[in-house]
Order: sequence, then structure tokens, then C-alpha cells
Amino acid sequence: MSHGLVTMSYIVAAILFILSLSGLSNQETARRGNYYGMIGMAIAIIATTLSGYVIAYQILIIGLLIGGAIGLYAARQVEMTQMPELVAIMHSLVGMAAVLVGYANFLDTTHSLVGVEKTIHDVESYIGIFIGAVTFSGSVIAFGKLSGKINGKPLLLPARHGFNLVLLIVTFVLGYYFLHHYPSENPFLTQTIGLPANETGAFLALLAMTLIALILGVHMVMAIGGADMPVVVSMLNSYSGWAAAATGFMLSNDLLIITGALVGSSGAILSYIMCRAMNRHFISVIAGGFGTGSGNGPAAEIEGEVTPISAEETAQLLRDAKNIVIIPGYGMAVAQAQHTVNEITKLLRGQGKTVRFGIHPVAGRMPGHMNVLLAEAKVPYDIVFEMDEINEDFPKVDVSVVIGANDIVNPSAMTDPNSPIAGMPVLECWNSQTTIVMKRSMASGYAGVGNPLFVMDNTRMLFGDANDTLQTVLKTLNQ
Ligand code: NDP
Repeated sequence: MSHGLVTMSYIVAAILFILSLSGLSNQETARRGNYYGMIGMAIAIIATTLSGYVIAYQILIIGLLIGGAIGLYAARQVEMTQMPELVAIMHSLVGMAAVLVGYANFLDTTHSLVGVEKTIHDVESYIGIFIGAVTFSGSVIAFGKLSGKINGKPLLLPARHGFNLVLLIVTFVLGYYFLHHYPSENPFLTQTIGLPANETGAFLALLAMTLIALILGVHMVMAIGGADMPVVVSMLNSYSGWAAAATGFMLSNDLLIITGALVGSSGAILSYIMCRAMNRHFISVIAGGFGTGSGNGPAAEIEGEVTPISAEETAQLLRDAKNIVIIPGYGMAVAQAQHTVNEITKLLRGQGKTVRFGIHPVAGRMPGHMNVLLAEAKVPYDIVFEMDEINEDFPKVDVSVVIGANDIVNPSAMTDPNSPIAGMPVLECWNSQTTIVMKRSMASGYAGVGNPLFVMDNTRMLFGDANDTLQTVLKTLNQ
């Protein structure tokens, strides 16, 4: 393929990626946005494959087949509730790719760059490897935390901010050594990987920086936990974009630079939106230490009696209600109850009742988790509202139905300064006439905090798997 045609294809792909992102910003256009993204990626892959950059098709095809097969298998096997872990581990691969390309770039001695061009080339490699290594190790830790393989609580080392600062300063110092190519005789490196003598010092500086970046990624994500994890997910998404952009600079691939920058900046905007929704400062979250309470004492113990309710009594309450709000949470995803929820919604709306959904920005385990599930079950978009749009309406609501949600409806976020989720805005369902909470036990949610909502006078607890209990509610409503 001629250079002009490749450039043309890259421009078309870049436009499609931008259209894709704008489509994904709205539920109604999200499907179309996905199609744009897929077509753009197909054009990008075909153009790159047929461009003059590819010199060994055998390796490329083997790589595409192995990578494609693993991707296909993972996508088919993954449960909806495991999506965040899958996304986290995919981010780690982008980071690893940036590190590997960075090293390949550095070790490639076939170019004849000198002076400023050589410095730019080295800076690209250094920054690319740094961002890639932070993304890689941070994403692996995020994967561990999201999958429950690592304790989700924040790890708070006594001088953690100072530690991060020292790591950053050492990174800059090593960068200085790397760029100035101080000669360091190292016959081992020269013989094993064929490095010229004047590059071995730079190589050792690069190795040391990579190790520091890996430690920084681990430490930064270990220090964040509990209800602040959503910000980590979107932040690593952003880092993976910048890592891809850095790879694009190293490979002189304009499309990769554009795509990486799009992912990097949209991830950063998402992180900012998440922080605002959770009433957190972005810098404070990435510096770590949130999710541990802002006061000085322990979080308040939850005292009081719960009032259980049966599925049949729940159906009766719904029959008597006119204005109903459903609040889905992570438990709805676990129970895969969205289809039953949609059936009940259709039935109640058919009886002339107002049924709406209240969605918290961090409900579930990934941004937009609940919207995806409700869209899958074909719940109409116009009855799905964001927290800010519906919170003021709760005093007028007859029945709020909380399905497998916990942290996002926890009043202690507003009342207890010692709570790990203190300051996070929540769905104020307790202001409605009656709140029905569906869950299997009195266990806490992701942030590990007790929830006073469960013992309030106007709360009724419907214990059991959400899908099983909702099926019984549906059957009773149909009788
Ligand atoms: P929570 O994790 O707070 O609570 C979910 C509740 O669902 C649990 O208390 C559990 O109780 C119940 N549950 C689990 N399985 C079932 C089932 N089969 N049937 C009925 N109930 C069930 O979820 P929320 O959605 O309220 O809050 C999300 C939390 O996750 C927040 O803390 C958020 O910060 C965090 N998070 C969010 C991310 C995002 O991007 N959205 C990413 C990472 C973390 P029981 O065991 O008793 O049934």
C-alpha cells in the first residue's frame, strides 16, 4: 500500500475513533459508537499490516493468531461481573507493550541518529518505558484488588508521599545519566546483547528506572482502596492511553499517537468526573490514602433491629405504590437479575405506575456497569436517571427498591466523618416512604462499611439472591 493511502486510511480511522468516543458518551448512541470504533480499528490494522513498516509477515500472523485467540477466549469466558478485572489486565498489556517497544527502540542500533534527533529518540524511549512500567504494575495490582486476590483496603505506609517523591526524583536523576550516556565499561552487556561500550551505562540507568517505575505503580495502586477503586480503574485506563501514545512516538506511528492521546485524555476526563461525583480531589485520590475515613476515630457501629419482609409482601407494597424508584447495585450484576427487573418494570408501568431507575456513578464494579446491564435487558433509557437527577425526588417516592446495592445507599457517608466513605454523595432512598433492600445477608459492600439504612424504621430487608426473590415478586404480581 502506498504511503499516501496509508496516511489517508489513518486519517479516516482517527475520525472514526473520535466519532466512536462521542457516540459512547450517550446511551442511545453507544451502540453506533462501538461500530465506529470497530470499523476504525479494522481500517487501522489493515493499513498498518499492508504498509511498508511490516517486514516479517510470518511473525505478524503468528502474533495476530495467538493474541486474537487469547482475546476471543477471554471475551467469551468472562462473566459480566469479572469485566473490571479483564479491563485492568488488558491495561497491563498496553503498559507492557510500551516497555518492550521502548527497550527494542533503545537496543536498535541500526538507525544513524545524532545530536538533537538522538536525544529526542532517547527521551521518547525513557518516557515511554516509564509510563508503560507504571501502567503495567499498577494494572496488575488493580486486577488483584478487583478480583479479590489482594486485600482491597488501602495500604498506607507511614511516609508514603515522601517515598513517591523520592522515587520520582531518582527517576529524573537516572534520566539525566541515561541521556548523557556516561561511559561505563561492562563487558558482560557488550558480549551478551551486543551493546556498544558507550551505551551500557545508559542501559543500566534504564533498567534501574524501569524497576523504580514498577515499584511506583505497585505503591500508588496499593495506597488506594475501598470506594475509591473506580478512580483507579479510569486512571489506569488513561495511563494505558498515554503509554500507547508514547509507543506511537517511538514507532513514529501517527495513528497510535492520536489513538493513545484520545484514550489518555478521555480516561483522564472520566477520572475527573468520577472524583467530582464522589466528592474527592483527583490529586488526593492518586496520592492514596482515601477510603480510610477523614475523622480521627473509628467508624460508628451499626445498632438497631432489621425488619425483614417476604417477596409476597414486597409485591403487595409495589401494588399499592404509585411512584417507585429502583436502585441497582453490584448484587444485581452478580444475580443477573436485570431481565427479571425489566419484566417487573414493564408490568408496573403497564398498570400506570411511575417507575424510574436511580444510578449512582460508582454502582457496580466499573464505570457505567448498571447502564450496560439495564440496556442489555432493554430497560427504556428515558426512565434511567443519574443520582443528581433523582436525589431530590425521594421524599415524593412511595417505594424505593434497592437491588444488591450497599455502599451507594449508605447514609453514614453523609453523617459519619469517620466512615471510610465519608463525603461520598449517595442515593438518599431513606427519604422515600418505604425502602426495600434486597440482598442475601447483612454483609457489607465493597468498602467494607456497616450500613445504618438496613436498621431504619422505614426499611424492609428482603433476604435472598436478588434474581430468585424478584422472580417470586414477579410471580405474585402476575397472580
Ligand atoms: P456494594 O459492593 O457496595 O454492595 C453490593 C451488595 O450486593 C453486597 O452488599 C451484597 O450483599 C449484595 N449482593 C451480592 N450478590 C448478591 C446477589 N446474588 N443477590 C442479592 N444481593 C447480592 O455495591 P454497590 O453497587 O452498592 O457499590 C459499588 C462499590 O464498588 C462502591 O464502593 C464502589 O466504589 C466500588 N467500586 C466501583 C467500581 C466502579 O467503577 N463502579 C470499581 C471498583 C469498585 P450480600 O453479600 O449480603 O448479598
